Amino acid sequence: MLVTHHLSRITFQDVLSQVVELIENKQSFAITTHIRPDGDGIGSSLGLCWLLRSLNKSAEVIAADEIPVAYRTLPGADEIRQVVEIDREYDAVFVIECSDVERPGIKGLADQFTVNIDHHATSEHFGSVNWIDSTASAVGEMIYNLCKAIGGRVTREIAECLYLALVTDTGSFHFPNTTDRTLKVASELVRVGVKPADISEAVYNSYPWSRIELMRRVLDTVKRDETGRVAWMRQTLAMKTDSKAVDGDNNGFVNIPLAAREVLAVVYMREIGSDQFRVSLRSKGDINVAKVAEQFGGGGHKNAAGCSVEGDWDEREREIVQAISEAVDKAVIDWPLPKRFDPNLLLVA
Ligand code: 5GP
Ligand code: MN
Repeated sequence: MLVTHHLSRITFQDVLSQVVELIENKQSFAITTHIRPDGDGIGSSLGLCWLLRSLNKSAEVIAADEIPVAYRTLPGADEIRQVVEIDREYDAVFVIECSDVERPGIKGLADQFTVNIDHHATSEHFGSVNWIDSTASAVGEMIYNLCKAIGGRVTREIAECLYLALVTDTGSFHFPNTTDRTLKVASELVRVGVKPADISEAVYNSYPWSRIELMRRVLDTVKRDETGRVAWMRQTLAMKTDSKAVDGDNNGFVNIPLAAREVLAVVYMREIGSDQFRVSLRSKGDINVAKVAEQFGGGGHKNAAGCSVEGDWDEREREIVQAISEAVDKAVIDWPLPKRFDPNLLLVA
């Protein structure tokens, strides 16, 4: 039996071997990721799908939400099946980048044999098998390792999908999760035929003009605290309508204020319904915004996290900005490039 209940005694390598074994022993697979899928979710899902198919397995990617335009050029993206529930028989369902079994938004998932693959330390061990590697920059890096462990060939399709996963989750290799392993994997993917400029063009320079219209409106709301270290901004539903924005137009907005040297953390709140908001948090260095997101029922990584909140906008904003300011004050900032920063910004716990 491959079910693991004693993860504390099991190493990454053991779990990876279990994943290899279950792929060898089973035949039909589905792969899914979280709602509002990002580049790592889609890229890793499709990369794994191509890997399974190259091993003569039956595999398909299923998702609750539509695939954002930026990822539709990926090989296999047009075959992704939008579903509300599990409607076919599978031997196992891979769940990519999900903190819990509800995150994909697909009914009936909890009754399946699930393989939870994630690189978020906050992931619940909801799967029948749980492969969590928080040292991986993206799940894409883990799928590459799986491909190697299973003796698969990194085909052009696999490479394009995994490269997109890496490039999006590392912010084009400039977030702190970028490691020598990330770059080695990226290098290998380029060696087998990925054209980095083509993927960057598809992901970053193929938006409709509505993105610029929306950006203008959102940036108009940006504020910062008196230290200049914490910035926050808002996106209303009206801004989306007025800009004629489509889903995905706001990708990466949250990172824009980080371009200012003194800004160490950003809160970006988007209105998604009546008194309902999505919150994106970003930070630099040792400021842990995942901990803040968890306080509000969300999760994520140290430098990139999110949550959903409800209620009075001003109140929620104040609470979140306050929590972020405290996280900034608490952080011991170990800047990789200290000379770039004003020494007054070096905080000590
Ligand atoms: P984003 O700001 O791009 O929506 O999310 C940034 C990171 O935080 C992603 O890695 C995502 O997985 C995580 N994240 C965002 N929202 C949530 C949430 O509501 N719950 C959990 N557990 N993680 C989230
Ligand atoms: Mn990811």
